Amino acid sequence: MELKQIDQAYLANTYVKFPVEVVSGKGSEVWDETGRRYIDLTGGVGVTSFGVADDAWLQAVTAQLGRVQHMSNLYYTAPPALLARQLCTRTGMKRVFFSNSGGEANECAIKVARKYAAEKKGADCFTILTLQNGFHGRTITTLAATGQDHYHELFQPLTPGFVHVRAGDLDGARALARTHRLAAIMIECIQGEGGVVPLEREFVQGLAALAAQEDLLLIVDEVQTGNGRTGALYAYMNYGVRPDIVSTAKGLGGGLPLGATLLGEKVESTLGPGDHGSTFGGNPVCCAGALSVLERIDDALLADVRAKGDYLFRTFTGAPGVEAVTGMGLMVGVKPVKPAAEVVRACLEQGVLCLTAKDKVRLLPALNIPMELLEQAAAVILAACA
Ligand SMILES: *Cc1c(COP(=O)(O)O)cnc(C)c1O
Repeated sequence: MELKQIDQAYLANTYVKFPVEVVSGKGSEVWDETGRRYIDLTGGVGVTSFGVADDAWLQAVTAQLGRVQHMSNLYYTAPPALLARQLCTRTGMKRVFFSNSGGEANECAIKVARKYAAEKKGADCFTILTLQNGFHGRTITTLAATGQDHYHELFQPLTPGFVHVRAGDLDGARALARTHRLAAIMIECIQGEGGVVPLEREFVQGLAALAAQEDLLLIVDEVQTGNGRTGALYAYMNYGVRPDIVSTAKGLGGGLPLGATLLGEKVESTLGPGDHGSTFGGNPVCCAGALSVLERIDDALLADVRAKGDYLFRTFTGAPGVEAVTGMGLMVGVKPVKPAAEVVRACLEQGVLCLTAKDKVRLLPALNIPMELLEQAAAVILAACA
């Protein structure tokens, strides 16, 4: 049997795959089994922050792998402690809980919000306000947080305690805060899976003010937008707000599974011994890789991410067959006149890998993609849109 047939016969049929078998890669280039090269603008869906098989990351990961690959959270190891300190010093958050994915990072955020609100305001105060068209994960609870009905239909009943409001509808959010006993407000600053849709600055600041006024926790889901993706270390930093809880994953581990829930002052003592846990969370190999990623996301790199994002915006705005360009930094959505999937297919045939998100062609390249490769890939996408 050919590999593609084995995959199709034995893996759960949950993904619609592109017809490419990737056998190796370096940075923003990958090769298939025939030796054909592709420029990768997907970054493994925003995960491989410094590209495939990045030297410094590989060095950090393999060094830790040869020392101790796992010890459990019952013993001290250096990488999770050093990573948590770095996350806290660079955000002003106070403590970190590590898990293995974005969905789990959000589960932790939701548990913290529920415990905080129950202790402070009463056990009936558990509802979390999230946004329509948002995306927070695939577990039964994070699906409930995800304000998109089509994800819900097959899996009822979902966890109760979530209400949704349209992005931009501040009056709607205020009304829900009057009619429900809310514990928290949870948002993505840029709705990624929802089509690379940035929230308005006034709306985010309005929600932060509402949260402060009503003693609701502000949770920002930075699973996709975090770790330098938007040209700031975390996207909320572009909005002039201070969340109480930040969840992140995707790009943090640079390619190994790692989720983090950052806890601010209000909730730094909410979790006590036994309240939450994860067997694999904070794995020293994943955390060593993440340290190597985070240490390199400095001001110079962030400026570079913004410059490359500006280049993509300039290139696609007003181009033939392009209706709109959205996003921030190297999280970019290009809305073609043609169906986005058709453009992505045409790009693949020309050796450029892109994603879709709703009606957009979504680009999440490695943060260090060389300008030359970005220009070559942009030319291919332009031709495919025209
Ligand atoms: C990808 C994503 C998630 C889910 O992350 P997993 O690692 O797949 O569980 C949650 N929130 C946002 C904003 C995401 O983009």
